[in-house]
Amino acid sequence: DTRLARIASAIRVIPDFPKPGILFQDITTLLLDTKAFKDTVDLFVERYRDQNINVVAGVEARGFIFGPPIALAIGAKFVPMRKPNKLPGEVISEEYSLEYGTDKMEMHVGAVQPGERALIIDDLIATGGTLGAAIKLLERVGVHVVECACVIELPELKDLNNYIPMTITWCIEKL
Ligand code: 5GP
Repeated sequence: DTRLARIASAIRVIPDFPKPGILFQDITTLLLDTKAFKDTVDLFVERYRDQNINVVAGVEARGFIFGPPIALAIGAKFVPMRKPNKLPGEVISEEYSLEYGTDKMEMHVGAVQPGERALIIDDLIATGGTLGAAIKLLERVGVHVVECACVIELPELKDLNNYIPMTITWCIEKL
């Protein structure tokens, strides 16, 4: 697919951000390239449009950029999966581990219904801990997670202890 090379080259790589030794994949430059941004959304839409998906769940913060245009195009609702204490209503939350310490992800009670079919969107998967937490949150309320989708996969960082994300993850670019 000729679109992949353009998407890959539109992603900027910034060394030593946010900490020394980390090569940060910066997708904000992809958003500046109108063709590459549209191609990115189109690739997801082509894969998911005929899968009876009712819910696109976007992981804060960059899942909020790619998730909504995909949701609109496939006729699904958009549900934000947020950092703790951001959502105003009643929430359910899921704790997950980071390199150092833990974090929490929250979703509004009532945003999804048992039996619905969800697609989870984020910009990048590294260890899979973040997507694993999103899967658990949705499955706890009886939602079927069809797949997780990201723009970028860092396969070397995957942690097989994380809850199944790699087996049901599809990414545009594998680094
Ligand atoms: P994981 O939980 O899979 O280890 O890390 C994935 C999460 O960290 C995603 O929410 C992603 O946005 C963020 N992340 C980690 N490294 C990078 C990076 O190099 N670039 C971007 N854009 N996000 C990153």
